[in-house]
Parts: sequence; structure tokens; C-alpha cells
Amino acid sequence: MRANKTFAEFDDSGTEHPVRPMADPVAIISLNGLVIALNNAFLEFTGYGEDELAGKPLGLFTETPFDAVLAAGVDGCIDMIFRKRDGRRLALTASISSICGKEGFDALALVARCPAETECREGRALIGEVMAAREEIKKRIDYLEDFRTGILQMVKEIDRSEEELEGAYRLLKETRDQLVQSSKMSVLGELASDLAHELSQPVTIIKGLSQNMVESLDEGSACHEKVKLILHAIKKMESVIKHLRIFSRKDAPAMAPTDLNRVINEAFVMIKELLSSHAIEVRMDLKPLPLILGSPVRLEQVIINIVTNARDAMPKGGVLEIRTSAESAGGKPCAVLSISDSGVGIPADNLKRIFDPFFTTKEPGKGTGIGLSISYGIVKEHDGEITVESAPGRGTTFHITIPAANPPERNSAGDFE
Ligand code: ADP
Repeated sequence: MRANKTFAEFDDSGTEHPVRPMADPVAIISLNGLVIALNNAFLEFTGYGEDELAGKPLGLFTETPFDAVLAAGVDGCIDMIFRKRDGRRLALTASISSICGKEGFDALALVARCPAETECREGRALIGEVMAAREEIKKRIDYLEDFRTGILQMVKEIDRSEEELEGAYRLLKETRDQLVQSSKMSVLGELASDLAHELSQPVTIIKGLSQNMVESLDEGSACHEKVKLILHAIKKMESVIKHLRIFSRKDAPAMAPTDLNRVINEAFVMIKELLSSHAIEVRMDLKPLPLILGSPVRLEQVIINIVTNARDAMPKGGVLEIRTSAESAGGKPCAVLSISDSGVGIPADNLKRIFDPFFTTKEPGKGTGIGLSISYGIVKEHDGEITVESAPGRGTTFHITIPAANPPERNSAGDFE
């Protein structure tokens, strides 16, 4: 005996309605299709009273023709549509058994099977549709998930490409600036070289003649004093020619292993003069450095140029700091020199131009605008880099980085690197 079976009914919209537990509904049908007997379960699930069905044709409560039932055969199964008293329809599978009377086989027993065991066809079809729809939705969700992952990946790629593009743009801009700078420098270098060449001969002649005259004239005479002034002026010219030569790089001296700290100390013998009576406090912090391949005279020139500008930027005095340190740039050892002042600083617009030849903010007669462009050229000549940090009112710092001589040589502390 099966006690807890559950029937389910499906209405026209396919909605499932549970039916309380009951025994299998059984109807005994005569061979001409009339109802002989029914059990309570059958009456209950069809909603008819016994007297309403007894002796009535099968067609009263089912849409399945009796011929189809007969065709399913004894011990067979048939999917039937039952029609309940209230008009609701119910699809169920029924098994067919034979009932034998005294004279043999004379009736059929229709046993409606619990839908949990047999599943009614409509329900099955609905479940199939729901499952297919679920499968389809799952596929679409998977597709959307893939799509979302793809989009996220694309966004990441776009971000990365943007960063790369920005990096490349920055590099391009730097390279372009350097190119512009070096082409300007090379044109000016040619000019300076021609000028130095043209001037040096007459200057040598004037210098020689005035020296002769100074020697032959009576000391203290008016002429003697005047020729001495000429000689003094001509020596100044000689020094200008020397600078022009340095600028044009035509008289490049041989590079030799150089201790940058030593160059700084020697330059400061002269620099002290520059700073005297300017109320400038000098702070030095020189760390041991690897030797660089350099020209002490030219490096001295760079230091003097930068310190002269620092002095001019601190008209009321201030602090000048000179620091060196051994560092590594791109995995290679190098010497770094930083020169900071607590002066007026440089506005952003000017900062882009300070290495340009002839860029000056100084009064006429006080600045030529070539000090930093010469320094730039000299540092480049040493395969180095010169950079500047500055803001108005917050002072200025120049950083010069020059690679160590290769192979590393004795450093300024006397050690081998
Ligand atoms: P000059 O000193 O003859 O003007 P430079 O090429 O040496 O030429 O310097 C160019 C300009 O850079 C200066 O006129 C000045 O405006 C600016 N400058 C350089 N160094 C400093 C500094 N330490 N503080 C403020 N301005 C500076």
C-alpha cells in the first residue's frame, strides 16, 4: 500500500496544483466502454459522485476515445486526458489490466498512475521547455560573463596602452627637446668657433704690440698707462676667446680620469671671490665618488656658471649647498653633483628655456644668456645629464650626473670601486 503519493494537476496555463495524497484511482470499464465500478480515489480526483458515473460511457470524464484504450491493449499503458466535473482537464498515464469473469475476460481496469511516477505529458513538456529556457539563459549568462571579462580585459589593455603612449610621448618630447637643444648648440658652436678663429689673430698681434709698447714706454707716462689699459682689455678679450673655444668644443682637451670632488674644491678657490661680500653661507657635503672621465677645466666652468647664477639669485644673501654622492643610473655607477640655492627661484615658463643659448632675465650688460647653454654642452660632452628643480621663492637646485670611468678607477676616498 502506498500511503504518501502526491498527485499534481495542471490547469490550462500549465500551472501545477498539488493534490492531497490518495490511493491510485481505479475505474472498471466494460468491453463496450461503460463504467462498471470506481474506487473512492477515482471519484475524488474526478469530482463526480458514484451514481453520476456508474453505467455511463467513458467519454463522460475522458477525452481519450475508448478505441484508443482498447488499442493500447491489456497490460499496456496509455496517456489519457481526463476531464473533471468542474471542467478542469488532467493528463495522466493509465495502465490497463484485464478483469476476468466466470466466462473469461469481460472488463478492463484503468489505473491512473501517480504523476510522480509517470509524469503527465503536458507537465513533462512544460518542464522540458523550462529546462531548455534555463539552459538558454545559462548560455546567455555565460556569454555575457565572457563578454564582461573581455570588456574588463580590454579596458585594462586600453589603460596600459595609454600609459605606454604617455611614456612614449614623454620620451619623444624629451628627445625632441634634446635635439632642438643640440642643434641650436651645434649652430652656435660653429659661430663661436669662427668668431674665436677670426679674433684670435688680431688679438695676438695687438697683445704682442702693446706688450712691446708697455716695455718701451716710460713707466708713469700717460702713454704707458693708456697702453697698459689696452693690454688689460686685450687679456679680457683673450679670456672671452678662450670661452668661445670651449663653447665651440673645437679645442676639446683629452679626457682623463677625474675626481669631481677635487674639481669642486679647486673651483671654490675662485668661487670664494665670487661670493665674498654677498652674505652667502656655503655648505659642502662631498661624499667619496668614483672617478669620471672628464676635463677638470670644463667641469670647473660648469660649477662657476651655476654658482654665479645662484649668487645673482640671492641678492640679499642666502645658503648655497654643494653636495656630491656616488649613485647608480641605469645600473651603472656615476658621480652626482647637486648645487642648491635659497634664491628667488625660476618661474615654470622660464624653466623650459634656461638652457637655451642667449636666454637671460638679467639686465643688459649683466647677463649674456650663454652660461647654462655652455654648461649643458659640457655636461653632454661628459656623457652626463644636467637637470634643474626650481619654483619661484623656493630656490633652485641643479643636478649633474656623470657616469663613472670605465673600468672604475680609484675614487676620491682613495679606494678602488
Ligand atoms: P645669464 O646668467 O647670463 O643670464 P645663463 O644661461 O647662465 O645666462 O642663465 C640663464 C637664465 O637662467 C638666467 O638669466 C636666469 O633667469 C636663470 N637662472 C639660472 N640659474 C638660476 C638660479 N639659480 N636662480 C634663478 N634663476 C636662474
